Amino acid sequence: MTDRSGRRPVPGPVFDPDQLSRCISCGFCLPACPTYAETGDEASSPRGRINLMRALQEGDLQPDDPTLQEQASQCLGCRACEPVCPAGVEYGQLLEQWRDHQWRGRHMPTVARALMWLAGLRPLFVLLGGLRGAASGSRPSGAAPAVPPDATGSLMLGCFERVLFPRVSRAAAALVPELRLTADQGCCGALHAHNGGTAKGEQLALRLGEDLPGTIVTTSGGCAAHLASVLGPDRVRELSDHLAARKHPDGTPGELRIDGRRARVALQDSCHLRNGLGVSAPPRELIGRIADHVELPSAGTCCGAAGTYSLLRPRESRRILAAKLDEIEAAGVDIVVAVNPGCLRQLRTGLRRKRSPVRAVHLAELLLMAERNVPPAA
Ligand code: SF4
Ligand code: SF4
Repeated sequence: MTDRSGRRPVPGPVFDPDQLSRCISCGFCLPACPTYAETGDEASSPRGRINLMRALQEGDLQPDDPTLQEQASQCLGCRACEPVCPAGVEYGQLLEQWRDHQWRGRHMPTVARALMWLAGLRPLFVLLGGLRGAASGSRPSGAAPAVPPDATGSLMLGCFERVLFPRVSRAAAALVPELRLTADQGCCGALHAHNGGTAKGEQLALRLGEDLPGTIVTTSGGCAAHLASVLGPDRVRELSDHLAARKHPDGTPGELRIDGRRARVALQDSCHLRNGLGVSAPPRELIGRIADHVELPSAGTCCGAAGTYSLLRPRESRRILAAKLDEIEAAGVDIVVAVNPGCLRQLRTGLRRKRSPVRAVHLAELLLMAERNVPPAA
């Protein structure tokens, strides 16, 4: 049913009205937005998308409108528009509310639906993580007990990380012997929250909060930001943030040497860690302790992984990645470091496809290599 002006109002608020009204249309966010940089189209910018959200809220556009569909999916969800916004618009929240409404029912991309279903299969990840030797419930070196007597926090093992990158889980477990490590961990729900499943995403985060006592330390910037938004920032630390605040047990973190010289290492930020939690200095500081840190001009810009984006929109994702890979190679680094398993997958796949000599590793792997004096595998 339409109102007198011919509009069909959306039943109930889709968006937090305070957030939606905060945008003053100044456009300061436009230069920070990777999709706007790609297309030059106002609709692909944060301001343009907020105007689309307003049109949806007012009933001027319906959820099956093609531009709404396209822009809800084209946005990377990188939140680069947040730190530059003078009005304090929390765009990430608006995007979650938008997709929760937009991708309801048949509109949800099949890949996202399938991944969310998979991530909900907790026993499967526990089993596969165990089979892959992802340090589930035991320390790889046997140097520390799974539950140290004075543990003040817990190590979270990412669900896909355990299966795809068990080496990262093992390295993290070895680096933080002071944390409790248990095998029976579920998904944190970030995947759901970012793909139109807000309620499920919150439910999974709350459950994980009950299962993992104390401060939760995670190897994934994306999971850290989501958990912090549900459990509160005091309950959650990303691994680099945790390690940088802790003194190295020996006072000597070791040095990573390649071909007889100090290694040259670049960092790719995790968007949600940098833009959502404001954590960017700790991973740089940790790299600088063991190698020569080389700052990439676009380190803080999305690599195109963006959660499910590389699967949902592979062509755009690869286009965004291509420029990043050229930059990494031009920087003359030996290694590029990720602080999020999704970014690791994206960078590693891209560099391999390009037959690049540069290696992509997770920060946990890098730190362990330096500690054990092991160069990166070719
Ligand atoms: S910078 Fe903030 S207030 Fe300005 S247009 Fe972008 S979202 Fe709106
Ligand atoms: S989240 Fe990233 S891609 Fe989406 S509007 Fe903001 S800056 Fe642009």
